[in-house]
Amino acid sequence: MPGFFFDKNFMKNKNNKLKKVKVITQIFEEWMPVPQTELLHENVYELTVAVILSAQCTDKRVNLITPLFYKEFPTVYSLAEASFEQVFEIIKSCSYPNNKAKHLIGMAQKVVSDYCGIIPSSRDELQKIPGIGRKTANVIASVAFGEETMPVDTHVFRVAQRIGLVNRSKTPLEVENQLVEVIEKNLLHNFHHWLIFHGRYICQARKPKCEKCRIHSFCDYFIKIKKNTFQK
Ligand code: SF4
Repeated sequence: MPGFFFDKNFMKNKNNKLKKVKVITQIFEEWMPVPQTELLHENVYELTVAVILSAQCTDKRVNLITPLFYKEFPTVYSLAEASFEQVFEIIKSCSYPNNKAKHLIGMAQKVVSDYCGIIPSSRDELQKIPGIGRKTANVIASVAFGEETMPVDTHVFRVAQRIGLVNRSKTPLEVENQLVEVIEKNLLHNFHHWLIFHGRYICQARKPKCEKCRIHSFCDYFIKIKKNTFQK
């Protein structure tokens, strides 16, 4: 890894963000050539269930719940006919089980009534379904249908700003729009997963493991910390 630091001011314009993305892409590609979601699923329906369950909940917890869920409700039709109590009982160990049980049944009923039982592939259509907001729609569109989207969850939101791939932002949509501006379309799928895995295992919210971080030479947060340390 080159032993120089990008200057933070230098990185403010788009061209320099593009260069930064290029270097980080090479490092991430070496680290994880084929990044994929950790949510267990075998089809679009199962992915949709898992992504709805994963809001404010860890993938690990969701993966403990979904095997029984998929067994009890193997299709969107079986879920559409399920009672709230049946669904709640299976998902009660995840966060917000009340809302999620309602959303899951609502999702299935909407897909059956409006989409002939087939989960749609476009983000706009997905967002018309209960329990599916922009981030969830982006994940389904990207993972299941190969659409070039950038879902922004808490990890992507934090890591993209710390590295300096985007300017300071108040909303996930601002971060999404800025990332789409600087990451090549065909890399969006991988970059989304790289930022998630990096945030989950290295660039953690409370205590980022900067000394172990492969990209610290290119990270605004790290550069700032180093500068502050030297100035003391
Ligand atoms: S250097 Fe630290 S803050 Fe920057 S991306 Fe790596 S872990 Fe995160």
